[in-house]
Parts: sequence; C-alpha cells; structure tokens
Amino acid sequence: MLICGNCGRRLAGSRYKTGGRLYLYYKCNAAYFRADFCTRRQRLREDTLEDWLLANTETELESQRLESEAKAEAQERKAPDRATILRKMNRLKDLYVNELVDLEQYRADYERYNAQLAAADAAARNPVRLPDFQAIKEKVTGIETFYQDLSAEERQSFWRGLIREIRVDLDDSIHIFFK
Ligand SMILES: [Zn+2]
Repeated sequence: MLICGNCGRRLAGSRYKTGGRLYLYYKCNAAYFRADFCTRRQRLREDTLEDWLLANTETELESQRLESEAKAEAQERKAPDRATILRKMNRLKDLYVNELVDLEQYRADYERYNAQLAAADAAARNPVRLPDFQAIKEKVTGIETFYQDLSAEERQSFWRGLIREIRVDLDDSIHIFFK
C-alpha cells in the first residue's frame, strides 16, 4: 500500500543493520534501477513512517472529512437532482402550451434540462465512494494507548484496515488515502 509519489510504483521493503539494530525501510526500486525511471532515491524508515502515522492520522482524517463534505455540498448546489429537473421540464411544457415561451425557446430550454438530466443519471450510476470517516475515526481514537502493545503483524494489519494507500512524494511529504 506504499506508493512512490514520484513515479506511482510500489515501494519495496528492505532491511539494514546499524548499531546492532535491524531497521526496516522502504524505497522506490525503480530509482535505484534506472534514473530515468524515477528520481526518488530517499529511503523511508518504517519506524519514521509509524511515528508519522501515529501523530497525523487523526488530523488527516478530520481534514479529509471536512474537505469531502464541502465538495459534496458544492456538487449538490451545482448539479440539481432528477426530481428538480423534471419539475422544471414540466413547468417549461406548461409555459409552452400556454404560449408564454415560443418554440425556439422551448427547444433550447428543453435541451438544456435534458443534458442536466443525463448528467444527474450518470452521477447516480457512479456515486462517489467516500471513506467511512466515522468508522475509521472510531478505530483510530485512543490509538496511542494500545499501539505499543501490538505485535509487528498486528500493527501492519491495523493500518491496512484503515488505509488503502500511502503516497510518499519527492519532498518526503506523506499522503494517506483512507479505505
Ligand atoms: Zn519512484
């Protein structure tokens, strides 16, 4: 689930020993293979990543929740729903029947509403799937109290349960994509 933000490839895990301690780290193998494949040669130590996740997951979750709520609201304002469009179409028909708009105007407006209807139907067929922010928040809350007691495998599966993808950019900034 760790992705190089520079080339989009998966980061590979490796180990190195220093000062009698064994460290696990991740790097983009493509960058070590050929410089024109990728230029992100930094290694990311697993314990550095874990510290970052522990310190930032909750705030990251909250800011993404707010952002996606704002986006959904803007989307709703921009794209009227099916019932609203159909109401407008019926009103347009009445106006035309009562000779309050001419045929040219009727056709132009009808085309516009029809396009909106198609867009609304397409959006309904492909709803934007958002992470279940509330469920993730419940899992993450109080993490610092139990995290130290988890085994390496339990820690991995804990993060995997919450996060779909982690991207590490050229400038070492980390971006979480929740499940
Ligand atoms: Zn890369």
